Amino acid sequence: MVRRTDRKGETIRGERAINEAEAAVIRRIFTMAAEGASPIAIAKTLNGAKIPGPNGRAWQDTTIRGHAERGTGILRNELYTGVQVWNRMHYIKDPATGKRVSRMNPTTEWVREEVPHLRIIDQDLWDCVQERLAAVRIASGADKIDRAVFHERRRAKHVLTGKVFCGGCGGSFGAVGQDYLSCTAARKQGTCDNRRGIRRSELEILILDALRHQLMQPEHVAEFVTEYTAEYNRLNSERSAALASHKRELESVTRKLDGLIDAIAEGMRAPGLQQKLDTLEARKVELTRLIETAGISLPLLHPNLAETYRERVTDLHAALTREDGGTAALEAVRALIERVDVSPPDGDDPRSLPKIVLTGAIAAMVGLALEPGSRTSKAALCGAGVSGLFASSVMVVAGNRSHHDLRGLQGLAREIKLVAGEEFQQDLLFRAAA
Ligand SMILES: [Zn+2]
Repeated sequence: MVRRTDRKGETIRGERAINEAEAAVIRRIFTMAAEGASPIAIAKTLNGAKIPGPNGRAWQDTTIRGHAERGTGILRNELYTGVQVWNRMHYIKDPATGKRVSRMNPTTEWVREEVPHLRIIDQDLWDCVQERLAAVRIASGADKIDRAVFHERRRAKHVLTGKVFCGGCGGSFGAVGQDYLSCTAARKQGTCDNRRGIRRSELEILILDALRHQLMQPEHVAEFVTEYTAEYNRLNSERSAALASHKRELESVTRKLDGLIDAIAEGMRAPGLQQKLDTLEARKVELTRLIETAGISLPLLHPNLAETYRERVTDLHAALTREDGGTAALEAVRALIERVDVSPPDGDDPRSLPKIVLTGAIAAMVGLALEPGSRTSKAALCGAGVSGLFASSVMVVAGNRSHHDLRGLQGLAREIKLVAGEEFQQDLLFRAAA
């Protein structure tokens, strides 16, 4: 590739040539837009025709529409009319993150270069599309949209914000308007079949109810506490065995060091002596540290965990519905929810609820049910020492009511899975994740 530099001395990357297949897709996009298709409709059509988008991914409306002020998006890209625009942006390093971020240059600093051999859209088609884009912008009141985005960002978070995913494609289940959630890919790209949404308020009620009544059933919690206690005791005896062995080794290392130091004091010099001294001293430091940190206290769980947990969630639920002081409660409830997946219901009955799977964060759940204000248990739960215990030990696998499959705890992840919806009353799954 030939490297040239522009008038500011920056390297021009990628000397361009027309890729005919891509050019055909671009012409199709402009033609559809000129005929009045919205960017969302265009994205859906292209995805429906299995035409790969930029970087091989599915088409998105934003890629097609772009941003008016920034002059981005396929429909606003002047390169397709044979004009290359340079120097639209400059890059600065964000001092907080160290990442390069783009900033717009004033339009007076933009540099336009005629590259007529790269034109793929004729002027009439371009003008027609630009008129349409401008008309849509005026009709929608773009400055009002900016204000709406600002408002959206400032608005208090909902309990489920950022936690709801599509059971069909794994993508986000985004908000439509004030009180409705549906699969973003199904709505905007047509790449997912999960077209059924759910009202946010309805989903919140289901999830809060599941947290209160399903996720910590007394019989499951009893099993959980039993398993946890067994694991707790096993770890404790492992720890005390290790502690005793470390103490014995420390005594021995200290004796050897003392012996060496005496020998050196009496004038003994031998090759490798210094190295031996260093090794022993390093081991002594290591053993001392191991012995000092061996005493991290783990929370012992009360058999009444389920009751305590339920009372707390009920309190939180009440706090959430109050006008004031809801923020702390909101964050506390959010911490209990790992994710919520929404899939289409089985069968075609339009009245049936989507299938809702709630994955709870068990460390947070157990933390919530521990004695309030007991700092040791709280610190221990949050501390690295215990998160390891949870990661390896908390998982219990249970089937439906008739079949309780209790597995060994080692190597299982810390998730509880609950199926809500039709089988809401029966199916409590403590799911083993790989
Ligand atoms: Zn989806």
